[in-house]
Amino acid sequence: MKLLSFFCLVLISLLWPVQAAVMLIYHHVASDTPRVSSVTAEEFRSHLQYLKAHQFQVIGLDVLLQQLRQGKPVADNAVVITFDDSYENNFTTAHPLLQEFGYPYTIFISPGSIDKGDGPLLNWQQVKQMSDDGVLVANHAMWHEHMARPEAGESQAQWRQRMKQSILAAEDKIEQVTGQRHQWLAYPYGEYSVALEQLVSELGFIGIGQHSGAIGNSSVLTRLPRFPAAGRYADLTDLAQKLRTLAFTVTDDHGVNPVIADSNPPQLKLSLTIDDFNRQQLQCFAGTKVLKPVWLDDDTFSVSATKPLSAGRSRYNCTAPSLSKKGYFYWYSQPWLN
Ligand SMILES: [Zn+2]
Repeated sequence: MKLLSFFCLVLISLLWPVQAAVMLIYHHVASDTPRVSSVTAEEFRSHLQYLKAHQFQVIGLDVLLQQLRQGKPVADNAVVITFDDSYENNFTTAHPLLQEFGYPYTIFISPGSIDKGDGPLLNWQQVKQMSDDGVLVANHAMWHEHMARPEAGESQAQWRQRMKQSILAAEDKIEQVTGQRHQWLAYPYGEYSVALEQLVSELGFIGIGQHSGAIGNSSVLTRLPRFPAAGRYADLTDLAQKLRTLAFTVTDDHGVNPVIADSNPPQLKLSLTIDDFNRQQLQCFAGTKVLKPVWLDDDTFSVSATKPLSAGRSRYNCTAPSLSKKGYFYWYSQPWLN
């Protein structure tokens, strides 16, 4: 019996190779900026060296999205490098290193913040220079707004209109300066909601979050995950594990909305294809707290924190080791906004 299941597993992995991409998010590459959102130039170089030494394929976000949209398997061990918030050190420090390694990457920028010119941000000449050097320039909303829900006193319709204007104005400005128009929106603070995803989708945009996880063919294109690689995540041991993650094949997320409406702690309910991990090895966490997944049927589990989540942003993470790919973990993260 054991032998039979082993052969089944080999057959499955030959027919449906387990492949996934990982998208990394950076902000600062500097040693005099807040540690939580920074890597030093030396750390950043060590990340790039690690990718090279271990044969990860660093691809552009355009290439990954084309594979996903066409339903092709994503490039194996693919890594996409991204930067948010357009800090000047992206141009002065990160850009030369990325050019040295010949790695494509994307910057998500908020044109309104660049226009204001306050803070250590890129100016438009630098953005144009990076674009001319082949850097992909994409949308981080006009003013880096909290986008997930209406402000106090704002109707749903007013909120939608304001968000639409922010997204389209930012896209137009980026196109005007760089000639690039990708229609990729990285949600500021990683905050999104089902209503925002609907708008993003209606506008023909891709939506990108800041919750962790690998990207595979069942990933939803209005909430692609990214792993943070700065601060306490800058360590190579930590990065090495994140780079070896796989995307669960989620068949139903039961309409989960990151914005906590009524019941807190919220419940995450997921239906999955279970072909390359053991149900017993699924582990879920809220921060460092271990949560107990409850299996509702053969392929569906639910999980909740034991205490209400505090105000602001939090996450549930669920992982399970891959059976076919040694040293790799499936990884799913659900962001919450309270
Ligand atoms: Zn941002």
